[in-house]
Amino acid sequence: MKIGIKFKLIAFTASLLLVVISFLSISVLNGIKNYQHKQDQATLFKQKDMFEQYFSERSNLGENGTSNKAQLARGSIFNKPWLRTIPASVYDTKGDLLSGFKVDGKLNENKDKNLMIKYAIQGKVSFIKNNNVIYFYSPIKYKNGIVAILELEYSVKESSLFYDNTKKMFYGTGFLALIFGVILGIFYFSNLTRDIYIMKDSVENIRKSDFNKIQLVNRNDELGELSRGIVFMSNTIEKNIEDLEVERDSLSLAIDKLQKMDKEQKEFIGNVTHEFKTPITIIKAYAELIGMYENDLSLINDGTLNISKECDRLATMVDKVLNLSALEKYDFETQKKEVNLKETFDEICARIMGKINKNNLTFNCDVENIIVTIDEESLRIIIINLIDNAIKYNRPNGSIDIECHKNGNKITIKVADTGIGICKKDLYKIFEPFYRVESHRSRETGGAGLGLALVEKLVKKQQGTINVDSKLNEGTIFFVEFSI
Ligand code: ADP
Repeated sequence: MKIGIKFKLIAFTASLLLVVISFLSISVLNGIKNYQHKQDQATLFKQKDMFEQYFSERSNLGENGTSNKAQLARGSIFNKPWLRTIPASVYDTKGDLLSGFKVDGKLNENKDKNLMIKYAIQGKVSFIKNNNVIYFYSPIKYKNGIVAILELEYSVKESSLFYDNTKKMFYGTGFLALIFGVILGIFYFSNLTRDIYIMKDSVENIRKSDFNKIQLVNRNDELGELSRGIVFMSNTIEKNIEDLEVERDSLSLAIDKLQKMDKEQKEFIGNVTHEFKTPITIIKAYAELIGMYENDLSLINDGTLNISKECDRLATMVDKVLNLSALEKYDFETQKKEVNLKETFDEICARIMGKINKNNLTFNCDVENIIVTIDEESLRIIIINLIDNAIKYNRPNGSIDIECHKNGNKITIKVADTGIGICKKDLYKIFEPFYRVESHRSRETGGAGLGLALVEKLVKKQQGTINVDSKLNEGTIFFVEFSI
């Protein structure tokens, strides 16, 4: 069974008080008793000495005129007032009463009287206490001889009364002190233990990681220091746990990222292998056919054309794969320099104008004549890929609109076409490497799904953003934004 500290402290205080009060009472009462005893003895012996004195004086006289010493004791002894302070009796050496004096006429209640007189005849002093009276027996000596026996009946009623009253007072006061002490102890220890229980609860809450419930005990002593220590400890543990959680989260994020990257890399390699196999198979097939039918001119023409087309496709693919993986692997410094946007766009448009015309597309290019600091090579790749897609996925006689403007500290590039559009479910996937909305259509146009992945990487590299808005069979708009 668990006994609480509060109960233990109160029980200990009560026991301590009890021991102290008892010890004090016993020693004081014993002291009083011993003192009274000594005083009584001194009085009795003094009285005995006075009797002896009187006897010796009378005996000297007796030698001159009186022959019977025993007669000295008779009659005249108690005429002396100083011998009448204590009731007394004088016996001869045979134990017969010679003379006596009593105040209250009370009977001698000493049962051992005769025995004690015998002792006195043998020269011994004895006394006994009976009913608040001390019966004292002593020989009265004269010149080394016993001339009579003195009996004193000394009443100690008053001193006994005093002793009894003192005893009662001690017990009463002691009891009150004990009750008062226990009540005071209950108050004090309740206060003290309440603070101890607060600290105990705080430690329990630390164990449960319930740091909001930690309470400070406001005291200016060791318990206060202990409480401040607990609060400090709790704050430190809480902070350490928080730090650990942050570290654990970032670690698990890093692990997730690594796993994702690993998965992406595997997919990328798988896709690369797959995409490269197709043109190589076609090239191989045409090469074999040409070898088999050396005289078939139309087959040779067709084969050469297709081999060259697949080679172009392979070259573009190799270029994009290398670019992408280089961007992925190395943290290139962007080569920023001052670029005249209009000039750059004009140059790009001039290069692809042949392709636009070949597809009967209307082309509008509205570029602000401004100079900005930007990585020109990346900008070129971004614009070429976006325009290339706008041509590839356009409808016959469609149009392409290009805009480039400066808005505050940003430049916005917009590439819009009136092509086949992209349905909503594919919109967020088109930036993934090797993703093609309609793979057979893309294959026709020679795409491997790498262009937009490359564009997105290059935009992000320059802290830019790319967004797309598209409507199926109506057209697509790409928005690119850079801070300058
Ligand atoms: P690809 O080389 O196949 O064109 P991209 O990464 O450039 O690869 O494009 C990914 C896919 O997004 C394309 O296969 C195509 O289906 C779709 N796409 C890209 N641009 C357009 C566009 N302007 N209009 C419609 N579809 C587009």
